[in-house]
Amino acid sequence: MLIDLRSDTVTRPTPGMKEAMFSAPIGDDVFGEDPTVNALEEKVAKLFGMEAAIFCPSGTMTNQIAIRLHTGPQREVVCHQHSHIYLYEGGGIMANSLASVKLLDGNLGKITASQVAAAINPDDVHATETALVSLENTMNKGGGSIYTLDEIKPIHALCREKGIKFHLDGARLFNALVETREKPFEWGAHFDTISICLSKGLGCPVGSILLGSKADIKRARKVRKVFGGGMRQAGFLAAAGIYALDYQVERLKEDHARAKALGQMLALLPIVSEVFPVATNIVIARLDGVTPEDFMKKLAEMDIKSVKFGPDLVRFVTHLDFIDEHLEEVGKRLGQL
Ligand SMILES: *Cc1c(COP(=O)(O)O)cnc(C)c1O
Repeated sequence: MLIDLRSDTVTRPTPGMKEAMFSAPIGDDVFGEDPTVNALEEKVAKLFGMEAAIFCPSGTMTNQIAIRLHTGPQREVVCHQHSHIYLYEGGGIMANSLASVKLLDGNLGKITASQVAAAINPDDVHATETALVSLENTMNKGGGSIYTLDEIKPIHALCREKGIKFHLDGARLFNALVETREKPFEWGAHFDTISICLSKGLGCPVGSILLGSKADIKRARKVRKVFGGGMRQAGFLAAAGIYALDYQVERLKEDHARAKALGQMLALLPIVSEVFPVATNIVIARLDGVTPEDFMKKLAEMDIKSVKFGPDLVRFVTHLDFIDEHLEEVGKRLGQL
C-alpha cells in the first residue's frame, strides 16, 4: 500500500464531490456566464464578508495577481524569507510585477508588527516604496504554524496607518480556522486581498480563490486574462469547491490529529533530532546523522513518500486520502527502520 505524504495536493475527489462536479450547471466563464463559478465566487466572498472573489487555476496565480494589483516597478513587498510567494512561485514578484521584495526572519515562519515597522522604507529618493505586506497562514515552512487574529491586528493597523496594502496567502487558512475557531469574516475584515486554495486540504482537484474589493477583483479579471487563467466551462471545477466548503472543512481536524500522531512517531526515531511543533497538517522532521535523500530513499522502499524540505529537513503532509489505517501502517513501517 503506497502512502503518499508529499503534500495535501495529492488527493482524489470523493464520490460526493465527483457527483457534484458532473451535475453542475456550466457556461463560459470568460463571458461571466458560468453559474457555478459565479455561485462559488459569491459564496466565498460572503463567507469572508468581502466584496468580491475570483476563481483561478492555482494559488500561485491568485497570489501573483494580488501582488500585481498592489505593487509594480520600484515598489516593494515585505514578507517572511520562507514565504511561498518568494520561494516557490518562480520569481513571480519580479517576473510578473517588476517589484522588489524585503525578506524578514521570524520564529516558525511568522513576522511581527515591530519587524514590519522597521522594514518600511523612508520616503526617500534612494528607496523603493513599501507597497505591500504579505503573510501566510498556515505557514508552510513554519511546519503549518498558525497566526491568530491577535497577532495580525497590529500588523493591519500599521499597514492602514502607512497606506500599505495587506495580503494573506491563505492557501491553508481553513486549517488554521478549524483550530482557532476564528471566523472567516473576522479574517476578511483585516486584509485587502486573501488567497485561498481549494486544492490542498479541502480536497479539490484544481482551484484557488482570490478575495478583495469590487474594484480590485474587477482589475484581477484583467490580470488573470493576461496570465492565461481565463477558463471556460470552469463550473465543473467550481462545483468541487462548493462541495468542499459545504462538506470537507470540519474534517481538516482529523488531518491535524493524524499529523500530531505522525509527529510523535517520527520523534521516537533515533535519527530524528527534532520535530517542529505540529499545529495543523504539516510535520517537519530534522534529521541527525542521515541525509534527507537517504532517509527518503529508505521510506520510499517502504512505500512512503515524503519531500526534502531543507539541508536536514523532511516534510510530511496529512490529507483527505490518509486515513487511520494508513497512519497505523506508517507506525509499523517506521518501527522496522
Ligand atoms: C500550495 C501553496 C500555494 C499555491 O500553490 P499552487 O500549487 O500554485 O496552487 C500558495 N501558498 C502556499 C503557502 C501553498 O502551500
